[in-house]
Amino acid sequence: NKLTVSELAEKLNKEASEIIKKLMFLGVMATKNQDLDDDTIELICAEFDVEVEKEIILEDTDFDKYIEEDKQEDLIERPAVVTIMGHVDHGKTTLLDSIRHTKVTAGEAGGITQHIGAYQVENDGKKITFLDTPGHAAFTSMRSRGAQVTDVAILVVAADDGVMPQTVEAINHAKAAEVPIIVAVNKMDKEGANPDRVMQELTEYELIPEDWGGDTIFVNLSAIKGEGIDELLEMIVLVSEVEELKANPHTTAFGTVIDAQLDKGRGSVATLLVQNGTLHVSDSIVVGNTHGRVRAMVNDLGKRVNNAGPSTPVEITGLNDVPQAGDQFLVFKDEKKARQIGEARQQKQIQENRGEQTKVSLDDLFEQIKQGDMKEINIIIKADVQGSAEALASSLRKIEVEGVNIKIIHTGVGAITESDIILAAASNAIVIGFNVRPDANAKKAAESEKVDVRLHRVIYKAIEEVEAAMKGLLDPEF
Ligand code: GDP
Repeated sequence: NKLTVSELAEKLNKEASEIIKKLMFLGVMATKNQDLDDDTIELICAEFDVEVEKEIILEDTDFDKYIEEDKQEDLIERPAVVTIMGHVDHGKTTLLDSIRHTKVTAGEAGGITQHIGAYQVENDGKKITFLDTPGHAAFTSMRSRGAQVTDVAILVVAADDGVMPQTVEAINHAKAAEVPIIVAVNKMDKEGANPDRVMQELTEYELIPEDWGGDTIFVNLSAIKGEGIDELLEMIVLVSEVEELKANPHTTAFGTVIDAQLDKGRGSVATLLVQNGTLHVSDSIVVGNTHGRVRAMVNDLGKRVNNAGPSTPVEITGLNDVPQAGDQFLVFKDEKKARQIGEARQQKQIQENRGEQTKVSLDDLFEQIKQGDMKEINIIIKADVQGSAEALASSLRKIEVEGVNIKIIHTGVGAITESDIILAAASNAIVIGFNVRPDANAKKAAESEKVDVRLHRVIYKAIEEVEAAMKGLLDPEF
């Protein structure tokens, strides 16, 4: 919300030269195009006897500023939020459907389920929330927007197929997010099902079953036959108890957008996952860069509800625009404030789009290290062959620059894909391609997500570049 001298002049119906003169009296030398800060604007306005109506300044649009800390005694247990990940065709969608059918329809009157992007089931009196979009792309693109909603990841591996490339990707995405993993060995009904092989293969990724001295939970199941589902749900409850998931139901709600779209009849429709507090009909709410009042709420059974507590997904209407999946939302007691902040956030978004910054790039690495902002450099490596990826990874890990670690969060073989870029964006990582290039989607994603992608053909050049960047010796790019 900065104004230049000429913009202020226009607003005040004055000549820019008059403003410049006043500024000189105030001891400020300014040109027509100079930005003025709030205090200066206020002083100038006072000089002209104009009252400034102070809008919420843009710096105050962070939700963090408005979230009050919960008292320990208000916190109660909340349901776990679970994402299902794994290789394509290993049975993620079938498992989601199977869990839903065995657990939801039975007890509920009507039993018409509504796909709103997430659903809740109950097992032994404990609720569990499942995100309905399987796969790590959705998971990680939400995380890249700052949203971490998943408490437990279910890694589905088909017993007749074993660990595949997307299995590995899913593992790395979950690990980068520090989310505990439960392995679901699926398709046990199939001839050729070999759960031991799956376990064996997964040891390579530090997922070691308890029987073998590790601490990863494995559940064998057949999603299609509905076998093993109860055990899986029990294990989810077990893991979430260890995680001690808690929330305060007695405060104004905040959470994350799971899904949103424009509906012909109802306008903007958004599925929100409440992460803390309780959301009520007619609450004043800011959702991402949109705002409004909750007109109606519908749960995952298609029933109208008036309130939704922690870990509950609900579909709401009443927003002035369509937010994006991964956006955060916050309820405000004061309707006017919600509107002001919603509008200010929208404004801020427009400004940010203008002067977008790369998340982390080699070029500004040294600056960030110097300022102490950077203690760990995350790197993703894609190479033409596994051997080079590993060689590069181990050489990079050996680079020593005081106080800064290099962390290789993912290595893989083949072209740089969109999924690599999304992971990089979410983890603030740099992508290094060795003898490989980004595909078209990855290129687009790297541009929009502002991810620094470096391509090399000679290993030592790649190492040299990273080392030089860390030491602030990178040649400027022209
Ligand atoms: P996704 O791509 O991971 O979501 O996989 P899907 O859920 O679409 O499943 C892929 C295929 O595997 C489908 O044809 C399913 O019917 C089949 N499938 C899934 N689970 C099982 C299972 O437990 N047993 C058998 N035999 N087939 C399964």
